[in-house]
Amino acid sequence: MREISHKLAFVHDAHPTRYSDVFDPNNGGVQARVALGDAALLDLAVAAAKKAQPGWAAVNPQRRARVMFNFKSLVEANMNELAHLLSSEHGKVIADSKGDIQRGLEVIEFCCGIPHVLKGEFTQGAGPGIDVYSFRQPIGIGAGITPFNFPAMIPLWMSGVAIATGNAFILKPSERDPSVPVRLAELFLEAGLPEGILQVVQGDKEMVDAILDHPDIKGVSFVGSSDIAHYVYNRGVVAGKRVQAMGGAKNHGIVMPDADLDQVVNDLSGAAFGSAGERCMALPVVVPVGEKTAIALREKLIPAIEALRVGVSTDAEAHYGPVVTAAHKQKIENWIQTGVDEGAELVVDGRGFTLQGHEEGFFVGPTLFDHVTTDMSAYKEEIFGPVLQMVRADSFEEAVSLPSKHQYGNGVALFTRNGHAAREFAARVDVGMVGINVPIPVPVAYHTFGGWKRSAFGDTNQHGMEGVKFWTKVKTVTQRWPDGGASADSAFVIPTMG
Ligand code: NAD
Repeated sequence: MREISHKLAFVHDAHPTRYSDVFDPNNGGVQARVALGDAALLDLAVAAAKKAQPGWAAVNPQRRARVMFNFKSLVEANMNELAHLLSSEHGKVIADSKGDIQRGLEVIEFCCGIPHVLKGEFTQGAGPGIDVYSFRQPIGIGAGITPFNFPAMIPLWMSGVAIATGNAFILKPSERDPSVPVRLAELFLEAGLPEGILQVVQGDKEMVDAILDHPDIKGVSFVGSSDIAHYVYNRGVVAGKRVQAMGGAKNHGIVMPDADLDQVVNDLSGAAFGSAGERCMALPVVVPVGEKTAIALREKLIPAIEALRVGVSTDAEAHYGPVVTAAHKQKIENWIQTGVDEGAELVVDGRGFTLQGHEEGFFVGPTLFDHVTTDMSAYKEEIFGPVLQMVRADSFEEAVSLPSKHQYGNGVALFTRNGHAAREFAARVDVGMVGINVPIPVPVAYHTFGGWKRSAFGDTNQHGMEGVKFWTKVKTVTQRWPDGGASADSAFVIPTMG
């Protein structure tokens, strides 16, 4: 059986003792196995990173940026191969895999401008003969722990900024689709990145714990489900690291009575069902405001959902492919049953969906619930599948309060033609990323990505200037160059610039 391993800066021939299966979501069954690393392996990777990092930090930022330019070109040249590899393990359709890679590359484009970003601040004459300047230095060695659903974009969010700012970076990707991160690390080497600056260690909880406890790893960036994000945040902080830990989501799309319903149905179809709903910025909850809106929306939604084409990842006509594993398929179908048991109206049932010729594939048909209420656990929890839940609201106020009161606060969207309502909504809703007539408001790379409440633990976001802040520490120098005369200042009083 094909074996997927780590990408390390040294030869490691110790035989792995543990493996995890990598499935073929289109056909079911196991297609490869990935070696799971342990604390001893991590020690070696950290030692290699420690050796390489000072030299990389000393490379001037323009040269570091050149590696980013080269890497971007190499990824573009290998886009097809990467997208097919990604789809074969994740299950998303090829066009969507290309989007996954492209969104990661946009962070690399941001990193191409790192010399500008790292220029620092300077105050001439802050006091008599005194200048003050501040600049950012890398934290040293950083680590990233990433989820299965964006195996290119999320590793690039973290590794791009960490590396461009002069750190060494160790990536622990999801064991469910571990191949693309390894290919990306190979392409970074080809782009001119020195050995030891980016390494990939494969693993599960054992490796995550080793990362969190390792004294030489100074910062950990995590993206995954909320309970694990919370655990990672707590354990990492107790170990003295800076930690940012992004968690799960349950994003709402609010539909005002004046919205263009055809556009909404089109946007919702993609945002709720694209990538089989396995996106933290998917829109699994739709909230029509007022009875008339609900009736009209439902009427248009049902045929649109029934017309969705579920297919294998390589089917260019398919709207979405299989989910990642049989276990995840089962979990989604269990949630559908829970929704039924809790009293929601199951309008379109995606359970039991099979694709001819791919009967063992992990497919779930598109599912629509209506009359979902806020006390239902199927509403409160993240399902992470192709399931859209309609929660009816009587007023704008009620609609704003729904995402605001939800335990998750990643993304939200409002569909309206009313500028005042949009402005009020954006100001008042208790959610980190807001779309106005934009169903998936993932911010561009030079802004910053992060949710609120149980969607993120820690106080810095991913990429943009927040990412730069996370992966660097600021140093401030106050300097005076003596003119040869003796200083008359008393050394015993706190210095002021007065
Ligand atoms: P997951 O939490 O199962 O896994 C994420 C990472 O944690 C993986 O690398 C995994 O190996 C590791 N891990 C798993 N169990 C662990 C444990 N017990 N202890 C320590 N580490 C453990 O998440 P997933 O299923 O791979 O990804 C889907 C989740 O990620 C969803 O909840 C989704 O909303 C979330 N997500 C959030 C964002 C965001 O930015 N907020 C983005 C993408 C995905």
